[in-house]
Amino acid sequence: MHDGNVLTQLAAQLSDWAAELGFSALGMAAAHDAELRNAHARYADWLKQGRHGEMDYMARNADLRARPESLLANAQSVISVALAYWPEQGLARALSTLAHPERAYISRYALGRDYHKIMRRRLNALARRMESAIGPFAWRVCVDSAPVLEVAFARQGGLGWRGKHTLLLSRQGSFHFLGELYTSLPPPAGEKPAVSHCGTCNRCLRACPTQAIVAPYEVDARRCIAYLTIEHPGSIPEALRPAVGNRIYGCDDCQIVCPWNRSAPAGDAAFLCRDALALDAASLVELMAWEETDFLDKLTGSPIRRIGHQRWLRNIAVALGNCPPKPEVLRALGARIEHPSALVREHVGWALARIRGGNAANAHPP
Ligand code: SF4
Repeated sequence: MHDGNVLTQLAAQLSDWAAELGFSALGMAAAHDAELRNAHARYADWLKQGRHGEMDYMARNADLRARPESLLANAQSVISVALAYWPEQGLARALSTLAHPERAYISRYALGRDYHKIMRRRLNALARRMESAIGPFAWRVCVDSAPVLEVAFARQGGLGWRGKHTLLLSRQGSFHFLGELYTSLPPPAGEKPAVSHCGTCNRCLRACPTQAIVAPYEVDARRCIAYLTIEHPGSIPEALRPAVGNRIYGCDDCQIVCPWNRSAPAGDAAFLCRDALALDAASLVELMAWEETDFLDKLTGSPIRRIGHQRWLRNIAVALGNCPPKPEVLRALGARIEHPSALVREHVGWALARIRGGNAANAHPP
């Protein structure tokens, strides 16, 4: 049994350990409080409106999100950590790739290694250090894999506020992964939730290529390019394809325009772009030529591998359809017109028709 002040007393050491493990921030919150219930109510409403699209697992696990004890019996506190991933000098490179329709834009979090294992390993190490300092306690690491309201916990722990784009945001920006350590330790006294500093700004709402941020703090995933290119299994709605531009895996636009990201700290080396692949500005034509074995081999250890080769080709076909009508673009698409997947063929057919119809002017939003 631990003293009610154990986490408060450990706070300074926890911060040091977090920094040593490469985390950019750490905060602690109670596993149960009114703010989390409010966050869950908002989440339930979002699901009711169908804004989660085909992410059925979100609806299936909705109630678990409200019950931390379903993840760890006797959960009393949640330690949230942030792990930065933005490449140093990343903004110029990101904008340059977005401005070149024949280059593939991949969300910057996905240029290097998949963060799940890295985050999990470091949180395990943090828990073990805690145990060696204060003795055994019950804990469970959660990295995207368990149904948690991670932004709400991080906010309660003082890591940042929920930006109007719905991501966790702090004075160090929003380019970080979040992970949680549920513990049976009593929560620290006197939580200091972060205060919002979005003010009257609404740049992220205006910048979204598909207007997926339908109101401040409300995202309709069915319009979000991250959802459409990663989570969505089927056909990308035709009306949205031109606005997808050259984004073939995720989208960073709402974060790129955020003033708090102007001085985002350099991310962890594990998430840097692998030089050999140069995925931060790769040629769409070259990526379209990857066979499934290339896709699996080259992307070993990358989060991109999760979408599979079929969705990869689907996404690249849309991006090629938004390119100027150059012979190499037509050839790259033509080589896939008889692909065994109906999904790929349909998107390739759309892209060819769009280019031949002369509609593929500038695919980028004004
Ligand atoms: S762009 Fe502006 S409104 Fe959007 S999250 Fe950043 S500060 Fe908030």
